[in-house]
Amino acid sequence: MSIDVRAIRDRRLRQRTGKPNRSALQIARTSSIDHVNRHWPQNLSGFQARGIVNPRNMCYRHSVIQSLLHCPLLLQWIATHAQTPMTQCQWAQPPLAGGPAPAMRCPLCELRRVCPQYWCARPSNAANATNIRQFHRSVQHLQKVVLYGPTGSLPTNPASQGDASGFYQFMYNVFQDATPATVNPAWMEQAQAIFTLTIQPRLTCKNCGATTTQPSVDQDELILQLGNDPEHIKDLLPGFFDDTIVTRNCPTCGVSGESTQANLIDAAPEILVVHLQRTGFNRKKGQFFKITTPITFGKWLELTNYQTNRGSTLKYKLSSVICHSGNSMNEGHYITDALGPDGMFRTSDRDRWKIKLPDFLAPVKTNVDKGPDSGKDFHPYLLFYTKNT
Ligand SMILES: [Zn+2]
Ligand SMILES: [Zn+2]
Repeated sequence: MSIDVRAIRDRRLRQRTGKPNRSALQIARTSSIDHVNRHWPQNLSGFQARGIVNPRNMCYRHSVIQSLLHCPLLLQWIATHAQTPMTQCQWAQPPLAGGPAPAMRCPLCELRRVCPQYWCARPSNAANATNIRQFHRSVQHLQKVVLYGPTGSLPTNPASQGDASGFYQFMYNVFQDATPATVNPAWMEQAQAIFTLTIQPRLTCKNCGATTTQPSVDQDELILQLGNDPEHIKDLLPGFFDDTIVTRNCPTCGVSGESTQANLIDAAPEILVVHLQRTGFNRKKGQFFKITTPITFGKWLELTNYQTNRGSTLKYKLSSVICHSGNSMNEGHYITDALGPDGMFRTSDRDRWKIKLPDFLAPVKTNVDKGPDSGKDFHPYLLFYTKNT
């Protein structure tokens, strides 16, 4: 059991000022996962991750799986799935016709099984070669479960390339629903503490100046719109959080007119997925296209000033970057750059090689020297961050 340093800090601050330094929702969310360790599982020290074979364009799913498997808190949390009556599996039941065997229909159960095989010790010895075969079988099985599972269909045809963001959203729902709320409502709270960004819109009337708080909105990603010019990620934040103009009927003065809307963070997730919106629409041609604008970002992302309660720092550390090459997000190839206990690595299909910080942070990845799309440009698409505590 780890000591919650923040809880102690918060208590001290409350004692001094009499005010909490985080929103009530944030305090509740954080306390729901205080029992989960935030460090890499101890048995992984000195271990390496593996590349994943991608039959039939599976890179859009496996890039997401890899990013998820590089989040220490998530590894610790999914290890608790289906281990006690309170974490019982929603989907451990008889299969649908043609589906996998009973108790094998839960993507989360499969992910838990894949995890210790994904992280391996010495890549050279014979036992490890067996583990690699087992690992690839387990990954195939995970994909079958995703296909036949009861958790709702994937947004795309299972045989074709899909959007990595769509697959992340699928996994987001799996995490939340893995234990029924009737059995243990705390499970979904934990899933939300890990992944859900809760936004509270606030409208300020331009006529009378009154501010009204709107109902909160839960999001699985922070979507940032890219423009035509290269920008730093910090410069994209105001486009989402800061004042946009909306027209409405003001409940205070009764005038129908312009209000400014600010979107503030009421609860920030432990794992934040930043989605760089790369799909644009060409009105003239009536078709979608990929926005290839380069984006600059650092190892850290600070969101302190975008909270409903700014009493404490909100800072994230970059954990992995899913990059895409191709003309639309539903074709081409995905690769993952990730930070693990063994350093920074780039993974393209089953190839995995060490990279340096400038590669990890590159606005466009041009030096991809392995895999089917070597020589092509890869654009950062999904950025996985872990909350700094
Ligand atoms: Zn399960
Ligand atoms: Zn008004």
